Amino acid sequence: MRRPFPLVVAALFLLVSAVPPGVLAQEGTPGAPAGDVQQVAEDVYAFVNSGYVSLFVVTDEGVIATDPSSQRGPERAEAFAAAIASVTDQPVRFVVYSHHHADHAIGGEVFADTAQFISHRNAAPQIAALGDARTPAPTIAFDDYLRLELGGTAIELYYTGRNHSDSSIVLLHPEQRLLFAVDFIPVNALLFQNLPDAYLEEWVESLRWIEENLDFDTLVPGHPPLPGTKETVGQVRGYIEDLMAAVRAAQEQGLADNSPEMVESVRATLEPEYGTWAMFDEWLPLNVEGLLRIWSEAATPTAGTSAA
Ligand SMILES: [Zn+2]
Repeated sequence: MRRPFPLVVAALFLLVSAVPPGVLAQEGTPGAPAGDVQQVAEDVYAFVNSGYVSLFVVTDEGVIATDPSSQRGPERAEAFAAAIASVTDQPVRFVVYSHHHADHAIGGEVFADTAQFISHRNAAPQIAALGDARTPAPTIAFDDYLRLELGGTAIELYYTGRNHSDSSIVLLHPEQRLLFAVDFIPVNALLFQNLPDAYLEEWVESLRWIEENLDFDTLVPGHPPLPGTKETVGQVRGYIEDLMAAVRAAQEQGLADNSPEMVESVRATLEPEYGTWAMFDEWLPLNVEGLLRIWSEAATPTAGTSAA
């Protein structure tokens, strides 16, 4: 049964909407949770706070929540719990970890009384290894696919291969045609800094798999701005492919790796198509640096992968 759109959320949604699009990683205001709730589909909400997005799905038998994203302290997770309570009195039954990185994983203890914790198989030991008292280890881990049913709502979780991490999964709400994907399909924004922990060529394949296999109209990312669409997936794949081609072209011109001349060459090539993306100026040199590091690690079998 459809819940009425709560008045408090409707009123505060106007405030949220007044924030200009493209604002990245703005600091949230602890203690004002409901203002950070955006309804993104029927019974589906995004909690946008402190530069992080947590999705939650409300059903008549409980809530499916995602990343607490509360590494800086307990405040964001507490605000997330309060935001859910501002929409429904149902308990959180499942918490889905998008991947193992601490900035998204930490803080789920606020849901531990009622929830089971779900992650990809690769994320489970890495989340446990955080050794963080506020972060319950996953109790359900899966390899490629997991279907959840709660209160008549079906949610599908897919592992699409290595990309931004080796443990990233996506959450598909088939009925609402909505996908939640964290850190590897940013909306009109560059890839994060120098691509820590990333697998760039496999990232491209991961995106292509989503384009070919998953049906959705709305994309909710793990950081603002939001939302995106299915087209965002192809745009990010195009960016990575164009970045790799531009760096290769610069190398073929004899420009030294990471030199100002190489960065300028790549910038000039990518700017017409991607210059309006958030953090283009700030993170392009770091994206180049990260790509070169990943390539050099691939060429050196003994080199380890760097940590996030
Ligand atoms: Zn991450």
